[in-house]
Amino acid sequence: MLSAGLNVVGFSWIASPAATELESIVMDWLGKMINLPKTYLFSGGHGGGGVLQGTTCEAMLCTIVAAREQMLEKIGRENIDKLVVYASDQTHFSFQKAVKISGIKPENFRAIPTTKATEFALCPESLSVTIQEDIKVGLIPLFLCATIGTTSTTAVDPLKPLCEIAKQYGIWVHVDAAYAGSACICPEFQHFLDGVENANSFSLNAHKWLFSTLDSCCLWVKDSNSLTKALTTTPECLRNKATDSKLVIDYKDWQISLSRRFRALKLWLVLRTYGVSNLQNFIRSHIKMAKHFERLVALDERFEIAAPRNFSMVCFRVSPLTLERKLKAFVDEGQVNKFNAKLLEFINSCGDIHMTHAMVGGIYVIRFAIGAPLTDYRHIDMAWNVIRTHANVMLKRLRY
Ligand code: PLP
Repeated sequence: MLSAGLNVVGFSWIASPAATELESIVMDWLGKMINLPKTYLFSGGHGGGGVLQGTTCEAMLCTIVAAREQMLEKIGRENIDKLVVYASDQTHFSFQKAVKISGIKPENFRAIPTTKATEFALCPESLSVTIQEDIKVGLIPLFLCATIGTTSTTAVDPLKPLCEIAKQYGIWVHVDAAYAGSACICPEFQHFLDGVENANSFSLNAHKWLFSTLDSCCLWVKDSNSLTKALTTTPECLRNKATDSKLVIDYKDWQISLSRRFRALKLWLVLRTYGVSNLQNFIRSHIKMAKHFERLVALDERFEIAAPRNFSMVCFRVSPLTLERKLKAFVDEGQVNKFNAKLLEFINSCGDIHMTHAMVGGIYVIRFAIGAPLTDYRHIDMAWNVIRTHANVMLKRLRY
């Protein structure tokens, strides 16, 4: 409300020194909270820094364009069709959208398949093989998007080996931690970022799990020059002494649009209102509640946990064995998927709780996510009762 009411339009430092300075301060605060290497921070003094973008998709687009410009300067603009980008088949579809807008040839987008064996994380060997195949046919590897906490199952791509491979080929690595990055404000989850020191950019959505409102995508880059080089425009009407001095940040050069809102104010309010330890307590309590839900599911033998839980989301389903026992016949995955899809439809239509689903490795999973400040154990128990009640009714109706 404050930010909308004050209507600060801080596209350049001179347009609003306060909005610009506060943004660089809160981005360094948050970077330190999640223990990002100093190279990503303004205070690191080596060209790193953070910016508040609207969405992860915008952050991805800006970093792809920065990487593209850097590469084309080396290899010549006529070679744009040779550039290849890499991700896993679990990478959020916003990456595909960003790639599409960036002018990379659609057929040069590699969605490397993941499997249950790697818990749906991107396998470094598969990346390596794919890169080598591309190089063999004259293509040029450009960009890798690794994910900490995938959308479907919260899988974590192994940053360390992935970044080592990328480094060999000069590939820009962006780490998308849209949801799970917030967990890294707790020291016990910071190991998920091991290897980020060798990536180029990192983003998380504070509006997902850090109690900020949309839009608060926090993007950090190690080499802000590469970003601003790709995105700068300096029309005469915006020229001023501060900009010419090159001693200030003009955030218009770190993003797609020119005008921008005073987003830092809402992040500042969240950080100052709750404080670091209260925010850590929220995250820890959500994860404890997710573990509680996971136990409830595991104790009911009709259900199964469908993917390993890393944070505060549990993927589960009614197991194939339950349906086979009930029907006294073999059931295929298609039938199990159909049953679970119907179950989710019934649950959501009751209006008491709402869950979403994902398809991973051909399996339909129901996703139970905890992330709101007011959620408590009684809500988890109530939700589990709703789920069981609907499952009871549906299983009773099954006839063999
Ligand atoms: N990346 C991940 C891992 C996500 O979970 C999501 C959204 O759910 C996104 C990216 C997309 O974020 P945005 O809507 O901010 O572009």
